This record gives sequence, structure tokens and C-alpha cells, in this order.
Amino acid sequence: MRSNVFILYTGGTFGMKSNANQELEPSSWEEIIDYLPAIKNQTFFHYFSEVNFTFQTLEPVVDSADITPEAWERIAKKIEENYEQHDGFIVIHGTDTLAYTSSALSFIFENLNKPVVLTGAQLPIFHPRTDGIVNLSNAIYIAGYKSFNLACIPEVCICFNDDVLRGNRAVKTSTNDFEGFSSPNYDNLANLEQHISVNKHLVHKGTNKALVLRTKFSNRVVNVTLFPGYSTLPLLDLVKNNKLDGIVLKTFGAGNIPNSPHWDELLEACEQSKTILFATTQCPNGQIELGQYAASSALLSPIVVDGKDITSESALTKLMWVIGNFGVEERSHILGQNIRGEMSVSK
Ligand code: ASP
Repeated sequence: MRSNVFILYTGGTFGMKSNANQELEPSSWEEIIDYLPAIKNQTFFHYFSEVNFTFQTLEPVVDSADITPEAWERIAKKIEENYEQHDGFIVIHGTDTLAYTSSALSFIFENLNKPVVLTGAQLPIFHPRTDGIVNLSNAIYIAGYKSFNLACIPEVCICFNDDVLRGNRAVKTSTNDFEGFSSPNYDNLANLEQHISVNKHLVHKGTNKALVLRTKFSNRVVNVTLFPGYSTLPLLDLVKNNKLDGIVLKTFGAGNIPNSPHWDELLEACEQSKTILFATTQCPNGQIELGQYAASSALLSPIVVDGKDITSESALTKLMWVIGNFGVEERSHILGQNIRGEMSVSK
């Protein structure tokens, strides 16, 4: 069966070449496509002969260190504009902030009914040992699922190496391993080995409700990782001076914080200024359980939202998105709900 796949190139190592100073910089899609024979010449290399491609570039192409919430909005709008005419979408993106973008897009789209597959590479497409060809080819199978008799994955996901991961569950775990991403608290949505298997029971169900986009993100947030000897005073200062709307608090283990008289003061200041504290764990694996230890009981407060097993990238983008799109009264409730499969409800 024919399928229509939209590919959006945003930059990243996938398409990078060395400049005069031997630093890697993104090049144009026109240069890249010459290195993708199976896509460029679909008649000769018949693998993708059933797939109609649309290519677009999100200008300017960037190292993903320069991706911004405005870029997330532009990516989402490109997908929205092309939604009806296509069966699946691929976003080629740098790996450094890929898990932030995949989390952000997952929150932007409500009622998503088609695959949005993010991918990239550890070695440029111009390199003889590139992983870019295999990553993009795998992404085409997932986005163009109809042509390959595969189950649809109607969610924002990351396709990297031989894994398909839920976008808001993924983290970048290696700067050089071809297995660059993992999903510590949720199993793979699909595995691409010699055969491709979609783990249907883990994938969102499709919907026939209309796609809804909420694209705003607030940057009045901070990500605070606790450490032994941590002082709450700098944070208290920011909250009292009304500089923040939200804080991701990366606690020790299952939600523990160091004993300090200033926590009460901080929580009170947060309550007064309606600054949300989103409690998560700094452990890559597992979830918080506030109240399990006496060392976490100070966080059993209405201003603190339990982040369960959410990843750091997902927590931060969710907080930015909730503040950007919802009023003060609704924020804590939405933040604490599992809305796109980003956190486990039973925990
Ligand atoms: N610095 C690059 C980027 O994120 C790294 C990569 O793509 O692997 O754009």
C-alpha cells in the first residue's frame, strides 16, 4: 500500500560537515540527499518504492544546542499544515536536545493519530561509518508503516539504532554509542532487528478526535539538582522576587531532600507566589514516593506536584508547557496527571 511520509530536516550531526576550523556544522538537505540513494532513486533501489516523500527544511538548520521553544512551535505547525495529506512524519534533529524536542512535541499534540518519528545520528551521513542511513531508513518504516504492513504507532517517538522509544520517556545516554538513547522506565514501542516488531500493547490507541495543538512554553522555570550541602537560599531569593513560575526539583532517590529549616520558608514562598514545585528523582531509573522516608515528608505539600517516574527532559518541558498554556488554578492538576504516557499512573 502506498504511504505519504513528510520529512523535516532541522540540523544536527546527521547532516554535519567540518568547516574551515575543523568544527562540525550542519549542511543543506540538497547536499545530504545525494548520500541517501534509496530515497533519492526510489525506482532503482526499490525499497521505498511504495513511499511518497515530501521534504522540507526548518530554516536555519542548527546544532540542536540552538533549538528553542519557538522551534518546537514551528516544527509542530509544519506537521499540522501537512497532517491531512501524510500518513507519518519524520523530524531529523540533533541528538543533544532530541529528547527535549520529542517530549515537547508530545505535549503540544493532543489526539495525535499518526506517527511523528524523531531521529538523528552520531556520525554524519557523509562519513563511511554513518548510522544516519540506518536510523533514517528505520524511521521511514515506522512513519510509512502502511507500505510495510506494520502496526501504526500514533505517537511522538524516537527511532534510533534499533529502538523505537516513546518520545517523552527517552533520554540521551551516550555521546558516542550508536545506541544513543534509552527509555529507563518504559519498554520499547518497537524493535527493529532483522524483523520489525511493534509492541502494540505499549503503544497509544488511535483516536478519531480532531488534532489539537497547544504550542506555548514558558521559560520562567529552573531545573534544580540537589546535592549534599545544598542551600535553598538562592532559590528562595528567586521565588521571593517573583522570578519563577515553576521549579523542577531533582531530589535524591525516592524523593528525599536534605534537612534544612529553610524548606518550609521556600514552600511558603512558592505557595504565595504560585510557583509550582515539580518533584522528580535524579536517579535515571525508578520513581519518587513522597513520604516513604522521613527525609521526603517536607515535600508533602499542596504546592509540590509528584513527578513519579518522569524523565528530567519530560519534566522540564511538561512544566514549561503547562505554565505556557494553562491558568494558575489548573496547572498543578494537569502537571500531576499522566497526559501523554510520560509517567506511570500506578506508581
Ligand atoms: N551537537 C549535535 C546536535 O545535537 C549532536 C548530534 O546531533 O549528535 O546537533
